[in-house]
Amino acid sequence: MSTVAAPPLTKVPNYINGKWQDSTSTDWQDVINPANGEVVARVPLSGVAEVSKAIDAAAAAYPAWRRTPPEDRIQPLFKLKQLLEEHIDGLARIITQENGKTFAEAKAELRRAIENVEVACGIPMMMQGYNLEDVARGIDETMIRQPLGVVAAITPFNFPGMIPFWFLPYAIACGNTLIVKPSERVPLTMRHAFELLEQAGLPPGVVNLVNGGKAAVDTLLDHPKVRAISFVGSTPVAKYIYARAGANGKRAQCQGGAKNHVIVLPDADMKMATQIISDSAFGCAGQRCLAVSVAITVGEAQKTFRDSITEAASSLRVGNGLDEGVQMGPVITRQSKSRVESLIEVGAREGKVLLDGRQARIPGGENGNFVKPTVLDALPANSELADTEIFGPVLSLVHADSLDDALAFLERSAYGNQASLFTSSGAAARRFRYDAPAGNIGINIGVAAPMAYFPFSGWKDSFFGVQHGQGRDAVEFYTEKKVVVERWAAEHSRKF
Ligand code: NAD
Repeated sequence: MSTVAAPPLTKVPNYINGKWQDSTSTDWQDVINPANGEVVARVPLSGVAEVSKAIDAAAAAYPAWRRTPPEDRIQPLFKLKQLLEEHIDGLARIITQENGKTFAEAKAELRRAIENVEVACGIPMMMQGYNLEDVARGIDETMIRQPLGVVAAITPFNFPGMIPFWFLPYAIACGNTLIVKPSERVPLTMRHAFELLEQAGLPPGVVNLVNGGKAAVDTLLDHPKVRAISFVGSTPVAKYIYARAGANGKRAQCQGGAKNHVIVLPDADMKMATQIISDSAFGCAGQRCLAVSVAITVGEAQKTFRDSITEAASSLRVGNGLDEGVQMGPVITRQSKSRVESLIEVGAREGKVLLDGRQARIPGGENGNFVKPTVLDALPANSELADTEIFGPVLSLVHADSLDDALAFLERSAYGNQASLFTSSGAAARRFRYDAPAGNIGINIGVAAPMAYFPFSGWKDSFFGVQHGQGRDAVEFYTEKKVVVERWAAEHSRKF
């Protein structure tokens, strides 16, 4: 049984200029618990006027916030870290209720959110520029970093607690003011995280929260006062946002979709590989942008891995993520469930279904969006499915004769978010690290998620932009460089 009751039905407010405000929108959407189909809240699809109000509030707060010393700007972040630690269980339950992932997975994503807050507390060091005296006789040159102004973050449904924090702490610690637009499918996590931000002591207007969909995003993209856009979501939307932000003269970092491959060599520790790849493919119901989606076995790895992964996948306990012992929750929406099931059907036509997660029967979850772990085999090299982002608990097995052939498979993929290798050979690992065409590389790792002090890299159609989220890249993205060249005639100093 679930240990926590669904929260009372609420209308999700916006947070603008330090105040919670009920939206005046006439357009509202249900927020649905994917484990049981219950409506847990209603979210407004805010329009141009409300989003513009948030932008104006952020613009008004900017001059004073920019002048606040970096050391003072990070003090609310220390407080926020403490508040997030204290409220981690409550926030994790909200994530599970609106997103479906297990309570343990929800807590894990919040740990990464906290880590980003901690790293951004280093801004007084990270934001420093550099200088050189006597670039010519008596002339000194200095590079300083200044904040941009109003910036915005648009985030997806799959990590409602973590992904906004890839951006928020860095943006404000660098002296910008921010608008967060979370996914309209999971607005409650940020609604509660912003209650903590409110207690952290930030001046009104420094952080703002607007709920909405395309109209809200388009307002952020077109508004002349917004200087930069951070986006995480699917590739078609990432491309659209990158193009429209660029056309409007804004800088943008847009993280897109993924199709991640793992290569299993015959010398891998098969027990470890199976466990880790099973966690990667089926954790968060496969709705992770770093989830392994295709496992390429090389040589003799094929038989052992095929048998062991199918067994591991079939033993996973699926259900409501708040229930004790549940290892995998539902997918986000009913539409998502039918999309994943129809892609399994494509896999059945192209190859073979070793484990079929369709028609999942979960006691108490009859109205939930459950798809059980699925393993597909014998997909041809030109398979339609092999390069389609499924974003569900489906692992496709492909076979290759050599590491070269396996790497060629990765080269053909449109995506480049993550690639992993399981081996006990240092030489194979080095070759892979050197040649694998992806931005996040795992060696005997299933989810190669960079710590907050490394960039969340991504290549090809998984990323559009230059600077990534997190760490030093975030500081580069949220600041612009100014170079000062100075000459002071020496004789003037003799006056004093
Ligand atoms: P999505 O693209 O549907 O939505 C993301 C955000 O864009 C939401 O805030 C949504 O309101 C907004 N949006 C949606 N359609 C829009 C449109 N037409 N115009 C303007 N804005 C629009 O993505 P999602 O379904 O919420 O998230 C899943 C996707 O995100 C997957 O493709 C996954 O791979 C990707 N993802 C990528 C990373 C990464 O780091 N590369 C991380 C997490 C998720």
